[in-house]
Amino acid sequence: MLISGSLSVHLKTERSRVTSCPNCQANGTLVNTISSKHFHIYWIPIFAYSKPGSTKCESCGHVMKGYDMPEDVRDAYEDFREGTKPKFWQFTGTMIIAAIFLYLFAGHVSIEAQEIAYIKDPMKGDVYYFEAGNGDYSSMIVRARMSDSLFVSKNKFESSYSSGVEEIDYEENYLEERMGFDIATILHRYNKGKIFKVYRYE
Ligand SMILES: [Zn+2]
Repeated sequence: MLISGSLSVHLKTERSRVTSCPNCQANGTLVNTISSKHFHIYWIPIFAYSKPGSTKCESCGHVMKGYDMPEDVRDAYEDFREGTKPKFWQFTGTMIIAAIFLYLFAGHVSIEAQEIAYIKDPMKGDVYYFEAGNGDYSSMIVRARMSDSLFVSKNKFESSYSSGVEEIDYEENYLEERMGFDIATILHRYNKGKIFKVYRYE
């Protein structure tokens, strides 16, 4: 069972700039109070989403909320509310999630940079995983490089899944027959996502 829900924390209580209580006419007895509600999962605060509050008279106990407030009381309350921010830690979960995404994204970017470097400077034995025209997936191995072009041999097998190419990527599965490509063409296909993985086994 997932335990989640909402929790409320007190943010601030401050005397209102409105001096007279509309209920008992006492002077300087009105206070504004603001809380912050956040959504939690297993008591880990994920994000704050609302700031409920009220104005209360310390003398007669009269509590005013929302549109029950006289205009001057509400203006003072709204100014106070706007200047009161939720606690930073109420966004702990959001920050953790953002950090995980950043980490994964940085990893992805560095893998991509490495793969592009391999494509631009190919070596015999490099392997490219690609999406075949028929919707299946396969791989090809670099046999030789000649300045701006290279010769590859295709895998004789295909897989219905991109993740299945790992299972057919064996030296003995590559055909003897060679095909020539420009390095620029390979790079273009990589940028289009047609070639989706580059391996250099060292
Ligand atoms: Zn009062």
